[in-house]
Amino acid sequence: MQPEIRFLGAGGAHDIRWGNSAALLRWSDKTYLIDCGFTVYPRLVAENLLEAIDAICITHLHDDHIGSLSALLYHRHFRCNMPPITILAGSEGVRTKLHTILHFLMGEVERFADLRLADQAEGPVVGLPTDGLHMPHMPSSAFLFQSAAGYLLYSGDIGCPVPCLQEPDWLKAHQPLWVFHDISFQRVPTHCYFEALYFLLEQGIPTWGYHCDPEAAPPDLRLPLVHTEFLLS
Ligand SMILES: [Zn+2]
Repeated sequence: MQPEIRFLGAGGAHDIRWGNSAALLRWSDKTYLIDCGFTVYPRLVAENLLEAIDAICITHLHDDHIGSLSALLYHRHFRCNMPPITILAGSEGVRTKLHTILHFLMGEVERFADLRLADQAEGPVVGLPTDGLHMPHMPSSAFLFQSAAGYLLYSGDIGCPVPCLQEPDWLKAHQPLWVFHDISFQRVPTHCYFEALYFLLEQGIPTWGYHCDPEAAPPDLRLPLVHTEFLLS
């Protein structure tokens, strides 16, 4: 089985040509938008996908991940007359800070969104907090989607492999598993160096890299990128 996931963009923060990293995931009969950076809302409007989203998962609070979230919320509320949409945060820090940001931008957040911790919402989505592992001041999380058919892990931005991936018992208990991981082709503290994920490939765990410019990839790259297989075109 291949997960039903389409990326609206797969670039790093400044790889505008590839769009901000964000995905539409069809999982257990619901459509999740994962992140909503500044290139995402126009893309959703152009593709007529704004009303198809059932819930939004936010990995962290940089502009390339939430930069058009309020535009999306306003559009659904005022133009489409839709009820508040569920927004799932994977860590308490993301939830409280995102609420503050949206409150400053939009006033009464609850008119537009039901913002909650993924673990307190009913459904197949679990937050894996990674606070501080992307940037010291930044709350962040990965997300794990679970179903009878398997598991999908979406890393968000993080300077190392998501910690649970490095626990053999966790890996064994979560099969089959598909991994979509942020990567960098340079060693930086904020994103995962691509070679640090090769151990997953060696264990036969399907893993794809995103949040990068594929034209900067080394010629011997072994990690498949979402740009070729999963980019919505
Ligand atoms: Zn970031």
